[in-house]
Amino acid sequence: MAEIRDIVVVGGGAAGVAAVETLRRDGYTGSLTLLCGESALPYDRPPLSKQVLTGAWELEKTLLRDEQQYRDLDVPLRHVAATGLDVAGRRVRLADGGELAYDGLVIATGVHPRRLPIGHDLAGVHVLRGHTDAEGLRGALVPGTRLVVVGAGLIGLEVAASARGLGLNVTVVEPAALPMLRQVGSQIGAIIADMHREEGVDLRLGVGVDAIRGDGGKVDAVVLSDGNVLDADCVLVSIGAEPTVDWLRDSELTIGNGIECDEFCRAAPGVYAAGDVASWVNPRYGRRMRLEHRTNASEQGGAAAQNLLQDLAGGERKPFAPLPYFWTDQYKVKIQAHGVLAEGSDIEIVPGPAEGRWAAVYRTDGQVTGVLGWNAPTMVLPYRKQMLEQAMAR
Ligand code: FAD
Repeated sequence: MAEIRDIVVVGGGAAGVAAVETLRRDGYTGSLTLLCGESALPYDRPPLSKQVLTGAWELEKTLLRDEQQYRDLDVPLRHVAATGLDVAGRRVRLADGGELAYDGLVIATGVHPRRLPIGHDLAGVHVLRGHTDAEGLRGALVPGTRLVVVGAGLIGLEVAASARGLGLNVTVVEPAALPMLRQVGSQIGAIIADMHREEGVDLRLGVGVDAIRGDGGKVDAVVLSDGNVLDADCVLVSIGAEPTVDWLRDSELTIGNGIECDEFCRAAPGVYAAGDVASWVNPRYGRRMRLEHRTNASEQGGAAAQNLLQDLAGGERKPFAPLPYFWTDQYKVKIQAHGVLAEGSDIEIVPGPAEGRWAAVYRTDGQVTGVLGWNAPTMVLPYRKQMLEQAMAR
């Protein structure tokens, strides 16, 4: 590998960190730079809506590695954002006016929260993606506060659960008929809705937000599309996320719903992408996917790095063909979902060894396509194995 002199990884999140560690583990000894758009050391995001919000963890505990570990890997972290990419010239432009030449590049710039067209200028209106967001939101979660969460996806529901635990009055507003509909379908969505109602959340389903009102620059109400007005001291807007690709608009890369890559996570000669920002063709399903899941970020960061090294050295690359997996913690329930949990699947609920523990098996044409464990981490494993053994689409 002597001919490869410079590899740059853009984005110091789970995918970027996995990429640099894999490059070193696989024997790459040349120069390796990790570009971090944030001032913090790379950190883990799942605890932000859980342990950090409830006060169980300080932000420090979310750091993926300490400074010494990057020194040991001989990976300098540069806290500067990439602002442009010249694929043909193999150069990354930087926000400080500089440039970095590379032989190989891994892009792992993640996503950023989608915002409503209204309300974000008011104090008390939050989004949640990073350390600064979590700090701001944690400070607002005082017992008795009226919190309105807009969006009943994974993050919105986790925040609702954390806030109920802290003694807040919580309302969740969701335009879809059920929470987490896209991730788990309606049958399990209904069970999740019941859990939140039992925990005291006022769940407003099938309704959107028309306005966020303020008084003196501070939020005081959320106006719903059905005409109801919710008094609010604090609002979390959690309506999904957009891939962080603006800095690539002038590059030769194909940008669709994320950076478009082939099954090897390759976006262009010498350029690979991984994590939430990558839209790649998953050969297991024979179609394009972009996952916003923590485990995928690490696995894809590693896979993209391995394929980049093979590519540069003229070796054999491996298609990245994972079975999608995510988990979410809400109240005392850990939900773990493997595979694709599509609406319209046949769902069998398999009781577990004790009350409150079960698995939902999703089938299409008799074939298992997904499994969801409800406090049942080991029950789901045989189904996972079965899915992994099924023939790939291509
Ligand atoms: P990120 O972690 O977003 O890292 C990308 C990094 O790139 C960021 O630090 C960003 O600042 C930086 N960057 C962006 N642009 C540039 C640029 N131009 N130059 C330099 N740097 C740049 N997943 C689960 O499976 N289960 C969960 O329970 C779960 N909980 C979550 C809770 C929260 C609150 C959040 C926000 C996410 C959660 N996730 C969960 C999703 C999971 O955290 C993500 O899938 C994962 O963090 C993605 O990692 P990534 O490295 O692709 O992107």
